[in-house]
Amino acid sequence: MQRKSKKHGDSDMTFRNIRKVPTILRNPAGKNDTEEGVTMSRIMMKTPLVEMDGDEMTRIIWKMIKDDLLLPYIDLKTEYYDLGLVKRDETDDRITIEAAEATKKYGVAVKCATITPNAARVREYNLKAMYKSPNGTIRAALDGTVFRAPILVKGIDPYVRTWKKPIIMARHAYGDVYKNVEYRVEGPGTAELVFTDTDGKETRQVIHQFKGPGVLQGLHNLDASIEGFARSCFAYALDQKMDLWFSTKDTISKIYDGNFKEIFEKIYENEYKEKFEAAGLEFFYTLIDDAVARVMRSEGGFLWALKNYDGDVMSDMMATSFGSLAMMTSVLVSPTGIYEYEAAHGTVQRHYYKHLKGETTSTNSVATIFAWTGALRKRGELDGISELMDFADKLEEATLETIESGKMTGDLALITNIENVEKLDTEGFILAIRETLDKKLGV
Ligand code: NAP
Ligand code: MG
Repeated sequence: MQRKSKKHGDSDMTFRNIRKVPTILRNPAGKNDTEEGVTMSRIMMKTPLVEMDGDEMTRIIWKMIKDDLLLPYIDLKTEYYDLGLVKRDETDDRITIEAAEATKKYGVAVKCATITPNAARVREYNLKAMYKSPNGTIRAALDGTVFRAPILVKGIDPYVRTWKKPIIMARHAYGDVYKNVEYRVEGPGTAELVFTDTDGKETRQVIHQFKGPGVLQGLHNLDASIEGFARSCFAYALDQKMDLWFSTKDTISKIYDGNFKEIFEKIYENEYKEKFEAAGLEFFYTLIDDAVARVMRSEGGFLWALKNYDGDVMSDMMATSFGSLAMMTSVLVSPTGIYEYEAAHGTVQRHYYKHLKGETTSTNSVATIFAWTGALRKRGELDGISELMDFADKLEEATLETIESGKMTGDLALITNIENVEKLDTEGFILAIRETLDKKLGV
């Protein structure tokens, strides 16, 4: 990943400043034997990562990644929070709030996919309550913005031929149609927009004089939320060394969308312009229609900030166009620079039930591995541990090279243009990555 190595110079694995510690190495066949006499230097960490475990198939993958790809190489320091549904129920969901608080304290977290309970899950797990989405709870606590980035690999080509580099999407996660108030108009009448201030003064505007049935909808947003969104986007663009694009429909919605545009421009001018110019980066505002057209003929390599609905729709298109939901990472960034990394997909329930029946699964662990590497690299950057950043680079490279060599999970085998593909099962794929990684590290 060139983008990453450019940030911190040489990407060679150097084992400086690390203690030699004996390690139990699991061999690629998965046997758990202690290889007598084998010692390896594990990378030491300073500050713990906040580790949030999760549910179903991703919980299984989580353990495999730690056992096979992390613990043999890193003296992994984490503060562990079990966000699996059983534990959430046991603690009346307090564990999620504690995990969010720990993230605020330490600054970097990595999260496994979790079940958001619905009525069926309440029955399945005999839950005391239909708990809120953990992601929603954490997002509210951190006031963060979610950035989604595709993982590009040779042999899995984006559907859009011109796209050569990732397009990262930032979706504003507050308000608009997601907090709307709707009304069904049954017959003739006048719809008005009324605002009553705290002194009781009313401002009224006619929305429409209905002559017959129709529908109405009220939307809102908050300057504070838009400002947080803007700061998260500028900070993340600087962090990733990428241009930032922002688009709304301000020609039609002059006050509502116009407010988004003005806030972004004001914050850019006052807080980020100099930093962007120093980094050789651009902030580019354009109308949403124009942005869509430009994105389609671009070669990628920028961050695209979008309002809530635009981001919802465009991110599904983007995930599909780049190949697979299992190749999409997600990071929540707070305006103050707190990071929480995860995969964009869910707990892969269907595979989990196969796994429980003892059937072989071929679940793709790439996005979850990249969640770990993202978090480890950020921890390394904040704590000045270049070995940790290098390891994250190497593990990502090993993952991509394994796929490029034709070894992959079933979801990718279906869409790749690589010939003679070897479709591996869930653990087989992780062990194949381990083999590539060991070769790269000269272990
Ligand atoms: P999902 O876990 O994303 O999986 C949907 C389908 O996409 C799978 O059945 C599978 O297709 C494919 N898929 C997704 N990830 C894959 C992977 N890593 N490897 C291979 N195939 C993959 O969505 P879901 O099954 O609708 O949701 C399950 C649970 O996840 C729900 O309880 C939901 O609340 C939760 N969820 C959590 C998060 C999060 O924590 N961030 C996000 C979304 C959903 P095939 O079955 O065709 O192979
Ligand atoms: Mg969507």
